[in-house]
Amino acid sequence: MNRISHWIDGKVVESTSGNSAPVFDPATGEQSSAVDLASPAEVDAAVAAAKAAFPAWRSTSLSKRAEVLFRTRELVDANRKEIASLLTAEHGKVLSDSLGEVARGLENIEYACGVPQLIKGEYSEQASTGVDVYSIRQPLGVVAGITPFNFPAMVPMWMFANALACGNTFVLKPSEKDPSVNMFVAELLAQAGLPSGCFNVVQGDKVAVDRILEHDDVAGVSFVGSTPIAKYIYEEGTKRGKRVQALGGAKNHMLVLADADVDMAADAAVSAGYGSAGERCMAISVVLAANEIADELVAKIAERIPNVKVGPGNEPDSEMGPLITEAHRDKVRGYVDGAADGGATIVVDGREGVPGDGFFLNPTLLDNVEPGMACYDDEIFGPVLSVKRVSGYQDGLDVINASPFANGTAIFTRDGGAARQFQFDVEVGMVGINVPVPVPVSYYSFGGWKASLFGDTHMYGPEGVNFYTQGKVVTSRWPDPSTSTIDLGFPETR
Ligand code: NAD
Repeated sequence: MNRISHWIDGKVVESTSGNSAPVFDPATGEQSSAVDLASPAEVDAAVAAAKAAFPAWRSTSLSKRAEVLFRTRELVDANRKEIASLLTAEHGKVLSDSLGEVARGLENIEYACGVPQLIKGEYSEQASTGVDVYSIRQPLGVVAGITPFNFPAMVPMWMFANALACGNTFVLKPSEKDPSVNMFVAELLAQAGLPSGCFNVVQGDKVAVDRILEHDDVAGVSFVGSTPIAKYIYEEGTKRGKRVQALGGAKNHMLVLADADVDMAADAAVSAGYGSAGERCMAISVVLAANEIADELVAKIAERIPNVKVGPGNEPDSEMGPLITEAHRDKVRGYVDGAADGGATIVVDGREGVPGDGFFLNPTLLDNVEPGMACYDDEIFGPVLSVKRVSGYQDGLDVINASPFANGTAIFTRDGGAARQFQFDVEVGMVGINVPVPVPVSYYSFGGWKASLFGDTHMYGPEGVNFYTQGKVVTSRWPDPSTSTIDLGFPETR
């Protein structure tokens, strides 16, 4: 059985904890590997390596740090296919989707290559007579990333690229469900010239996470995952004085107004609802259809669904792969089982005709879904698209703003005024206008509102740089010592 271990201080380190977890090929349902689960002492070893590497790395010139990131960019680019196939083998998503994930992650490394420009401070000459004031941004120290199964390559890149560029050292605790990708990325970072100890991977579960949260030498924690765990990470981390950004779950609505192009909206709903089998925090899970076009839209979505090719991710024809685990597939199927009893209409039943022995569920379409039904209230995180009918703009907006989740949303309309009003009114962190999956480019920042984010800063882009640095302001003067006097008054500037 293939074994997946830790990467600590520049090398593979096998766990002595005696604990491991199975890793599956979701397309076959077979176990492919066992991943080590770290003991608290193994987390301590990774943090100690990162702590030891920090003084030299933060003292490394900005150009040199940028050079390491440039080389990392080249290596990740050259190994896109290798990373994508590792990803597909453990996550199950189709190869084209895995390649897309790597490409979007790469953008974050490219952004971090601009670190000399990104962490420039400000300088005010003559703030007072002969006195200058300037600001600098410095790294936090050892920072940790705790990441979800659904983007095993991209989400760590959201974090470590900026963290390392800003002079921090990093401990990553990836999802135990698809842990291989980051062992490969760790090798690439080493080949790029990143000194040992700057980037460490600790495989593990709650035991490892809890040790990270309680460790005095971890200054900051970035988390992406489900809402209950995000809340826990934020509360436990901040309680111990750490800087924490914790991105949680989602339930993303797509509002389709009566004037929208219904074919375009149907294409977008299918792409955004079933891409990556709905296991995206930016997936569309609820379509809010204006009554005038609702029947037509539901019919057009339903007619497209049989054309979605469901199959193993490594087969070139497949457009949608399996779900991550058997337990998760069964949980998602449970929402479909309960939908009709709850009052929803099953328009396309994805429980039928499921291919092979893997963790598959076919695309499912539910109509007449309402708040209060489990399939509306919960984050399903699978290929289940719900339609709720609304009377128009205000009704749709009210539904979105009443949701506790607020990660992403989209409006489909040809009315620029309505779209502009939506952007102004909607209480959600990332908004698409005729764009169903509005994941911001790397030079903006990613994050939701409400129960989709715990903390003050979004991830990557300018807010990522702010998260991984702390500001310092220096007030300086170089007076002639002969002019020195004692003055007990509070210093004034005029
Ligand atoms: P998860 O919350 O189960 O796990 C995320 C991480 O937390 C993993 O590393 C896991 O090992 C760890 N973890 C799990 N249970 C824990 C516990 N009890 N105590 C401490 N640590 C624990 O999430 P997942 O199932 O891996 O990923 C899917 C979820 O992530 C969905 O809810 C999805 O919306 C969310 N997500 C959000 C974003 C975003 O940007 N907002 C992006 C991707 C995924």
